[in-house]
Amino acid sequence: MAYSYEAPVSQTLFDRASLVTPGGVNSPVRAFRAVGGTPRFMVSGTGPYLTDADGREYVDLVCSWGPMILGHAHPEVIAAVQDAVARGTSFGTPGEGEVALAEEIVARIEPVEQVRLVSSGTEATMSAIRLARGFTGRAKVVKFAGCYHGHVDALLASAGSGLATFGLPDTPGVTGAQAGDTIVLPYNDLEAVRAAFAAQPGEIACVITEASPGNMGVVPPLDGFNAGLKEICAADGALYISDEVMTGFRTSKAGWYGIDGVRPDLMTFGKVMGGGFPAAAFGGRADVMAHLAPAGPVYQAGTLSGNPVATAAGLAQLRLLDDAAYAKVDAVSAELRSLVGEAFTKEGVAHTVSAASNMFSVFFTDEPVRNYEEAKKQEAFRFTAFFHSMLEQGVYLPPSAFESWFVSTAHDARALERIAAALPAAARAASEATA
Ligand code: PLP
Repeated sequence: MAYSYEAPVSQTLFDRASLVTPGGVNSPVRAFRAVGGTPRFMVSGTGPYLTDADGREYVDLVCSWGPMILGHAHPEVIAAVQDAVARGTSFGTPGEGEVALAEEIVARIEPVEQVRLVSSGTEATMSAIRLARGFTGRAKVVKFAGCYHGHVDALLASAGSGLATFGLPDTPGVTGAQAGDTIVLPYNDLEAVRAAFAAQPGEIACVITEASPGNMGVVPPLDGFNAGLKEICAADGALYISDEVMTGFRTSKAGWYGIDGVRPDLMTFGKVMGGGFPAAAFGGRADVMAHLAPAGPVYQAGTLSGNPVATAAGLAQLRLLDDAAYAKVDAVSAELRSLVGEAFTKEGVAHTVSAASNMFSVFFTDEPVRNYEEAKKQEAFRFTAFFHSMLEQGVYLPPSAFESWFVSTAHDARALERIAAALPAAARAASEATA
């Protein structure tokens, strides 16, 4: 499909990139394959705006897929980074910054008694699962279809967004042995979880779930689902791992735990806690974390873990995220959700605006969406038309119907007005779209 507007500099960069990088990108969903067109190469970001290589400005509703909750180039985060970077970029020794970041995490999230810093969400979930297996002496892992936990071999089965976007059920390169101990169950279905535990008592090391999924679009847990998981795990001696890489420090001061209060054995974090740098973490019960090297036998390590620049950025961002900041993000999200809903209603487009705190996405269906199967029934082709109309009008949405939209404290009245002005034409484009 051809689009009426062009991005010649981005196209030239994409052509160059495609010669030296598979698919021209370093993370698949950036390639716009689900929506078509030229991926925008961004050169700068300020507050709620991104500017691309062709000099066009966009209101950013991706926020780097979650991390930029204060908007781009927040002056206090930048100052902390400049201060840290001037003192050296990596020492391969312990440093005070990583202690302070760990203390901030432990202070905010009560079930986290001890925490280990890593560099990506993938590393966090991979390490948490290894630790759960090492701690319990069991092999099997339960995950849910549509939940994404990074590109950990054992967790790539039915992993939502990136894979949903490409329609890949699985990925070549993951062997039967690596995935063989993974049990994939439908999300929001406690009966399926009970049946899996009944069929293999004492064999399941852990259940890992997104605290509130955002990788099949936003599909919050039904009332009692997370509490039920915790109860089933506890009864069998398995660990309950809540993946808060996306929701952590975003959906509230204490992430999704701050909303549902269900106490996980282990938790994983990333995105917001790195302030736009590669910093992530896993943590939880002290008796479980004590099994981690060098305190215990389960090995885990990283050259750049607890990097001083990344921890300075993360700490500066977290310290700015007080109650007022979350109230602001929540209010921006609520206003945007109502603008989006009104625009689709006006054009008669069947839709559901699905929210979990300030994270939300639009499903092009008016049927309930409680799991991945139901999410896939939406008319995703309408999103393509909607996405391109918004892009053309200067609003940058996630380039897939199966991703959460993200807002920040920097999304002010001017940014919201620009989105509001773009919505009527984009909703019309969605209504006129054909499969
Ligand atoms: N877990 C969840 C819930 C995520 O959303 C993501 C990434 O989007 C990850 C884990 C993986 O994090 P990373 O991309 O930093 O490896």
